[in-house]
Amino acid sequence: MPREKVSVVWFKATDLRTHDHEPLSLAHAAGLPVLHLFVLDPRWFKRTPLAGFPRTGPRRALFQLEALADLSKRLEAAGQKLCVRHGISTARAFEELCDDFDVAACYTSREICPEELRVEQKVQEVLQAKHAGELQLCWTYELHHYDDLPADVRKKGASGFSGYRRCFSERCQVRDPLPRVDLAKSAPGIHWPRAEGLPSSVVDLGLSEAPEPDDRAEVLWAGGETAALARLDEYFFATNAIALQFVGATNFPHDGHSSTAANSQSKLSPWLAHGCLSARYLYAELKRYERERRHTDSTARMVHELYFRDFVRFSALLKGSKIFKLEGIYGRHPVGGWLQEDGLLAPWCHGQTGFPFLDASMRELEATGSCCHAGREVAAWFLVCDLGIDWRLGAEWFESTLIDYEPAANWFNWSFTCVPRATGGNSIQEEAKPLRPPRTRLQTLEAIYWAAQQDPDGEYIKRWVPELRSLDGTLAREPWRVTSEEPESAPRVGSAPEEWPPAVSRERERIGWARRNFPAGGSQVAVWWGCMRDAGKIAPRPEAGKAEGAGASAAERRLDPDDGKEYSLEGLKKKYKGQYKLEEIRLYWQDTCEPLEVRTDPEDGKAYTLAELHAKYRKQYTWQEVAKYFKSSCVRLQERASTIPRAQATGWPEGYPLPLLPPASFFCIEEIAEHSRRGQARKAAKAARLRLEIGGDGSGGRSIGPYGTGSSKSEHVASEERGIPKSQKGPRRWAKTAPQGT
Ligand SMILES: Cc1cc2nc3c(=O)[nH]c(=O)nc-3n(C[C@H](O)[C@H](O)[C@H](O)COP(=O)(O)OP(=O)(O)OC[C@H]3O[C@@H](n4cnc5c(N)ncnc54)[C@H](O)[C@@H]3O)c2cc1C
Repeated sequence: MPREKVSVVWFKATDLRTHDHEPLSLAHAAGLPVLHLFVLDPRWFKRTPLAGFPRTGPRRALFQLEALADLSKRLEAAGQKLCVRHGISTARAFEELCDDFDVAACYTSREICPEELRVEQKVQEVLQAKHAGELQLCWTYELHHYDDLPADVRKKGASGFSGYRRCFSERCQVRDPLPRVDLAKSAPGIHWPRAEGLPSSVVDLGLSEAPEPDDRAEVLWAGGETAALARLDEYFFATNAIALQFVGATNFPHDGHSSTAANSQSKLSPWLAHGCLSARYLYAELKRYERERRHTDSTARMVHELYFRDFVRFSALLKGSKIFKLEGIYGRHPVGGWLQEDGLLAPWCHGQTGFPFLDASMRELEATGSCCHAGREVAAWFLVCDLGIDWRLGAEWFESTLIDYEPAANWFNWSFTCVPRATGGNSIQEEAKPLRPPRTRLQTLEAIYWAAQQDPDGEYIKRWVPELRSLDGTLAREPWRVTSEEPESAPRVGSAPEEWPPAVSRERERIGWARRNFPAGGSQVAVWWGCMRDAGKIAPRPEAGKAEGAGASAAERRLDPDDGKEYSLEGLKKKYKGQYKLEEIRLYWQDTCEPLEVRTDPEDGKAYTLAELHAKYRKQYTWQEVAKYFKSSCVRLQERASTIPRAQATGWPEGYPLPLLPPASFFCIEEIAEHSRRGQARKAAKAARLRLEIGGDGSGGRSIGPYGTGSSKSEHVASEERGIPKSQKGPRRWAKTAPQGT
């Protein structure tokens, strides 16, 4: 039998839609019958290599199945078919496809990460080997078309986000979304008899059943283009939230912003990540909104977010496999190297660290598949800077649990935004480069600071951490203030005069100040030394260099008693090159050079590294004498925590875990919270004024918003009124209201 000649549209996990879809447009313009293919590749359902989490957790898998069901329905409505294969690799599926059909051409979306590129390469090889037509790759994910980037930016990238932003706004334009293809005009779609159809549940993919949607979530996502378009319409035109309430993921550290407030983020990311919504279509709708209604600071911030998304994609493309490597995109390790899992990863993953804002974010993530950007950043900083754990374990947890997971977005955000906080890196984050390894210095302040700024009344925290609901805002953020223990100020390292923090209103500068000074502390910083779980177990940290982890020894620095300076092993080799054999240098480094360590000098109660202590006593004592005094009389910083009896838990909220590390916060944290409250109230008042100007209450007659104001419960009522049963998995409330003609 001659094989039927067909065009193939190979849908990927990142383009599950029918609007603004170039492969679909090209295939249907080619004049042949079209076979629409999707392969549920088993590689997605393996385990992550380091921590062994499911690579795709059940919640994201369910979202994907819903998105596929929606795509299939849309195609069928136009007489087309979606052929789904599962249980075999993508390359194998293509071999069988070419055995059964004469494939004239295969149209698909372009991928950018190494693993996806390898699969693409294999498919290309199969098509060649089977004498089929070409694989035609299209840019469908990004806002800017790759071909429209200036050649120099394509080749080398731009300098950081600012460089990309300049490039996007000055040197290239966003194309219009493609006109919708009239699928009904094409020949009827091809059915492939070997196609298995969609699995009936995620259990068929080897996963556990997806948990029921959590009523506390602001948005209960349902996969698919129909739901995506409905949410977009709701967020933009029905409620004006885009102009009145939108803060944007990456804009959280600004006066009066809170990304835990209702509607402060669009929550479109799951649909964008799975490609149910095209970024170009979103942009076009934004511009239409600005033309027809209003241009505001908030609408401008959406452009910023979409630019950031492209910055992430194009940068990840250039960085290649570096975004997945321990040393990250800057090729650096923290002082002392990374720690592997030592029992602290699980409390971090499941929101049991004893740090409320962080726990709330991680519990929300686990319960819903998402949390706000600030929560993601704070959680990531805590893992890399405070606990010092190999960051890839955290990134793997995000990969497993995030409903909006997309490899470039997850791994690039980790390696660009979070890892440099622990390792130094680009110039913006350089000030964050800690000089001492985690757990030998004070940490936690940043996580506590952002809680006061984002969630001053602890409303978000109380939603996700029920153990803290009976406490007032300040105590919900910092339950250690409830205990009978009085905080002490933290001793400062070094002899530099203490700086005063910038004014409370200058948040970014203040956090910069904290990053520079906080490892040491000072009179501004309150520390609850005894309020800590398993003090003996967690501190002290394993000796630098003895930590497991591929990069540990390369990053470690030690003090050479010869000149009192710090060297990495490589640096030491350079110093003594020609004088000693390499093995002798290695042994000298290992046995004689001092690992960096911080101890408190009983003479003034302040903390010093050996070099700092040497500088202090330089005029009175020799290096050897100082080293001896350092070892025998000075107390290791973390020993101090462990010598204090375990937390006096009087008043500690029942059922909530004690903190993993001694909590350290500003004495004046309430001033910071109050400043944020005032800023947020100003912003709300401005939004209310604008709402009147835009017209009516701006809610389009529909209830919006999360929990509290127009809660998800009232959303359910609204859904049921519209004939959408509450019990359906994933609310279909967006699905029924999709605008026509998109
Ligand atoms: C450690 C870490 C991991 C992350 N992993 C992912 C991921 O796997 N997938 C993902 O889509 N986002 C990821 N982000 C980025 C960001 O947190 C989410 O895109 C955002 O929270 C989504 O919420 P939203 O749709 O309401 O965003 P909005 O504020 O409404 O922004 C609109 C859109 O812009 C895009 N966007 C905004 N910020 C970023 C960013 N920093 N990176 C990439 N895209 C961005 C998203 O597509 C988002 O939907 C990660 C951030 C961090 C710090």
